[in-house]
Amino acid sequence: LVSREHHPQRSVIRVGGVPIGPDTLTVIAGPCAVETPEQTLDAALMARAAGASLLRGGAYKPRTSPYAFQGLGVEGLRILADVRAETGLPIVTEVIEPGAVELVASYVDMLQIGTRNAQNFALLQAAGDAGLPVLLKRGFSSTIEEWLMAAEYIAQRGNLDIVLCERGIRTFEKATRNTLDISAVPVAQRLSHLPIIVDPSHSGGRRELVLPLTRAAIAVGADGVIVDVHPRPEEALCDGPQALSGTDIAEIADTAAVLAPLM
Ligand code: PEP
Repeated sequence: LVSREHHPQRSVIRVGGVPIGPDTLTVIAGPCAVETPEQTLDAALMARAAGASLLRGGAYKPRTSPYAFQGLGVEGLRILADVRAETGLPIVTEVIEPGAVELVASYVDMLQIGTRNAQNFALLQAAGDAGLPVLLKRGFSSTIEEWLMAAEYIAQRGNLDIVLCERGIRTFEKATRNTLDISAVPVAQRLSHLPIIVDPSHSGGRRELVLPLTRAAIAVGADGVIVDVHPRPEEALCDGPQALSGTDIAEIADTAAVLAPLM
């Protein structure tokens, strides 16, 4: 269902009215984790001022360590809904278990399946049933074929509103958190009609890599980027080293505006 054989034209997916797909370069930005109403609103205003059209923010955080901040849960969802009401930005947030899909879907505009759950088939099916677009991150150990098969689990439930997200894979390299597999963008685009965006924040894991990786993503034809921003990155409860400040995010958005029409 997600292959080009089934659907030769590349698809455009709409999230709260915002298009993601060919002929647009969608910037999704926001805090890695929702921490407080003020922090989330400030990050959303930074994102909007820079030209982002969707707000990201995690209320449920699947952290490597069980001792790390795990997210505010339903309180985080309420904050996101309030910030949407205030800024008009549609919301993308991660859901980490099948039993929570209905609740999360009642607050947001797009469900995110994270890299750690990319082959959680019960979760993929539940997301497919939820009636919202789904942002499907690539598993950090998934091949492109496994990733597209994960998308197929969502599509099989009758939901073709899926956006793929390349967010880096595990390699032997330790200089970056994960290795951004930039070739996955054109490869997946040849195989699948689904839009594909890139996450330069979670792949590189470092703020100074976000702009160069964004340039690379645009150059290979990605349909958008999803980036972390925080009003005070040094105080972030989650992934502060990769969070952009207001000036940084403006640079990303300017780069996108200049480069995208040239590609
Ligand atoms: C995220 O986007 O908040 C996230 C945790 O990303 P990933 O699943 O790619 O690590």
